[in-house]
Parts: sequence; structure tokens; C-alpha cells
Amino acid sequence: MNAAADAGIDWARVRADFPLLAREVHGKPLVYLDSANTGQKPASVIDAVDDFYRNHNANVSRAVHALGTEATEAYEGARRKLARFLNVRPDELVLCSGTTFALNLVAYSWALPRLQPGDAIVLTRMEHHANIVPWQLVAQRTGATIKVAELTDSGELDVDGLYALLTPDVKLLGLTHVSNVLGTVNPVREICREARRRGIVTVVDGSQAAPHRALDIAALGCDFYAITGHKMCGPTGTGALWARREHLAAMPPFLGGGEMIKEVRFDGTVFNDAPHKFEAGTPNIAGFIGLGAAVDYLSAIGMDHVEAREQALLAHATEALSAVDGVRIFGRAADKAAVISFLVDGAHAHDLATLLDLEGVAIRSGHHCAHPLMQHFGVPATCRASFAFYNTHDEVDAFVAALAKVRRLLA
Ligand code: PLP
Repeated sequence: MNAAADAGIDWARVRADFPLLAREVHGKPLVYLDSANTGQKPASVIDAVDDFYRNHNANVSRAVHALGTEATEAYEGARRKLARFLNVRPDELVLCSGTTFALNLVAYSWALPRLQPGDAIVLTRMEHHANIVPWQLVAQRTGATIKVAELTDSGELDVDGLYALLTPDVKLLGLTHVSNVLGTVNPVREICREARRRGIVTVVDGSQAAPHRALDIAALGCDFYAITGHKMCGPTGTGALWARREHLAAMPPFLGGGEMIKEVRFDGTVFNDAPHKFEAGTPNIAGFIGLGAAVDYLSAIGMDHVEAREQALLAHATEALSAVDGVRIFGRAADKAAVISFLVDGAHAHDLATLLDLEGVAIRSGHHCAHPLMQHFGVPATCRASFAFYNTHDEVDAFVAALAKVRRLLA
């Protein structure tokens, strides 16, 4: 369809790497357009998890036997792969269950001991609840307040409005790199530079960025960056927090237990060095080995190719969807990831999603864990079609044809 997006890659073969995409739903070929919710997994990721349990299963960082060494090497190898993928140092990368955990770790370990009455936190209107509720909990306990940066009509951040909020009382700015509802890509590098000039610590939610474009976290200039593995072809229950080394060194542990200590005595415990200080208990070893395989997989395709392919699918879908009568698209940012939120006049989002499911098309409907954004648009819910590189242009057409049919049924 689009020569630049194809870039010599056999996308049909890429798609065939994902076993689940071959199945049918309600007797129709599956059209999976919910990758912003969770991504599908290539066989290499499934095989890596399977191989670990079949051949190497042991706990990490504890046993000296061969299996223990193999498991530890594979687990730490996954950390190194992920660090390379994100262009950060492995010892600055805390492995955890996902973005929700990562943001809570910053909230409880960095913000809670530091914030006090008179301090402020700035968030944006387009945050996922995972980047709102932890800050509300911290604000309640510290007496800090929360200020909200608003959006333009096209669903972009009002950047000047945001800068106007960055007054001397602001200690922390939390913002998403890419909106899970609007697809808006925020100018994170520029915003972090401005925040840093004012001495404000920045926490970036990268859940929807890491699966879709090449990331160079070291160049972004933020203080904390959170990712979640299951949206980037990896297993559920995997993710990471990147933090500047000085923050990790200064932060107390979030959870206590095994793995995160050097020595425990009843008169005091010496904690392990970062990042292990923040990784109490047995981790999701198989999951991280799977995430390492996911990173290998994405790197082999090349994130620039992933992005170009998804942009071509987005352009196609936006044009085709706009031609359906009564469709209202939310979010028209100039820089936008392959996510389209929409409503159809006179139809409830859940009805549309349910009827599309009967056509084999899986989209999400609801508030997308972004109530404040729904309040901004004055709607309780939207439908959201989200695309990944393994989708096809035929699927875009099948989705839009199914939507037009469903719309007629509901009219
Ligand atoms: N932030 C954004 C922008 C998201 O899209 C999501 C997941 O939907 C999250 C945070 C939470 O990620 P997880 O549930 O994997 O912790």
C-alpha cells in the first residue's frame, strides 16, 4: 500500500509470527484493533517463556546451582536488552510489573518523603488513571496540591498553558509521552527541558510510546520514565522504571523483602544497590525473559519500520473512517500514534463495540482509564481502534466496512 512503510519488509510474514491473529471470532476472521490495551505476542516470545519453564526454571540471584545461574543470566540479560532498546544503563532500570507499579514507586519512594503543604504537582488532562491516582494519594498525605494542564481543540497539550502552570511551588510534573485515547505524541523533550530549567522533576508515562517508536530516554531529559511490557509484544506483568541514578540512590525502597538487601539484622538492614533495592521478592522471571525476546523481535524489525508501518495504517484508517456518516473522531494531533478514538452519532460506544465484535472486529469501548479526558469532551465513553504493525490494510477496510454495517443496524 505504502512503499515507504513497507521498507522491504514482508509484513505478511511478520503477521504470521503472531499465532493468535490466525484465529476466528464468532465465525469471522479476527481483526484485532486493541493493541493499545494489550499487544499480541509473536511465537518467539511465547517460545522463550515456554523454554524457560521447560529447561531452565529456577529462582534468580539466590542459587549457585547451574539452573540458578542460567535463570539469573537470562533475567539480567533481559534487563540489558531492554536497557539497550531504551538507550539507558541497565543499573538505572528497575524491573517491575508495569507502568502502574513504576509510577507508584516514584510516588511513594520519591514524592511522598519530599512533598509538603504548599508544594504542587502538575499533570495533564490526557493522563491515564495510573498517572493521576498515585499523585492524588500522595497529595492527600503530604498536603500538596495538583494542577492540570489543559488541551487544545485538536487534542494536543496546550504547551504554553502548561508552562504558565510551572510556578516555583511546582515540584513534580507528570505527563504521558503518548495519549492512550487520542494518540497525541507530546513534545516531551522540550517540556522536560523547560521543567528542568525550573528545577521541576519530570515523570513520563511511556506506556504508549515504547511499542510504537524508537526511544532514546537518555536524550529526553526526563527524571523518570515508565514502560509496560505487555503493550510491546512482551508478557503481562512486566515493565520497568528508568530513573536518573542520583534519584535511585536517594530514594528509600518501596517494598521490603528478599533480593533487595545486602544484610539483614534485627538492629538494622543494609539495602542492596539500585536497581535491586527496588526489586523485592521473586520477580516475574519468565515474563522478563519473554520481554527480552520481545525486544529482540522489535529490534529485528526496527522501530523506525514499525512506526512507518503504523503511520500508514493510521492514515488509511483515519481517511476511511472519516468517510463514514456520523463518525466523530477525538484527537487530531499533528504528531499522533496509531490510535483512533471515535463515536458514531446516535450510537452508544459499548453497543458499537459489541456489534463489531460479532463481525470479528475487536476494538475497545469505555473511558480508557482516562475519566478526566472524557469529562473534557463531555462524553462518558468512546470507541477506540488501535493499530499495530502486524495489522493489515485489509483489516482497516474490514473494520470500516463492519462499522458502516453496524451503524446501519443501529440507525
Ligand atoms: N499509562 C497508559 C498511557 C496506558 O495506556 C496504560 C495501560 O493501558 C497504563 C499507563 C497502565 O499500564 P499497566 O496497566 O500495564 O500498568
